[in-house]
Amino acid sequence: MNEMMRRRGPAIEPHEIVQEGAAGLRVKWGDGRVCGYGAAALRRVCPCARCVNEMTGQRMLDPKTVPDDLAIESVDIVGRYALTFRWSDGHQTGIYSFRLLRELCEQNEESRS
Ligand SMILES: [Zn+2]
Repeated sequence: MNEMMRRRGPAIEPHEIVQEGAAGLRVKWGDGRVCGYGAAALRRVCPCARCVNEMTGQRMLDPKTVPDDLAIESVDIVGRYALTFRWSDGHQTGIYSFRLLRELCEQNEESRS
């Protein structure tokens, strides 16, 4: 079974989404994995059309313009597949699919080890 196959089903279905403090988010996935996210890190990978050029995939957002103390003002579920955030800098157009969130979590863990 390849990577893509394993990332379908419970692995990208959140069972629990909890905002922790002003800038933290914790997601418990259907396969039991728990992932923690920080607001600034999530904002820096915002996938919206203002932050990423849709044609080229080039990141337009300079990560240095995102303050480390960025906060989450609100988080909402989009349909059955994604989360959307309103950040303390007023930005709110990013839609973070569960698949993207799961991949971010696994990338973090790989870079840590
Ligand atoms: Zn954006």
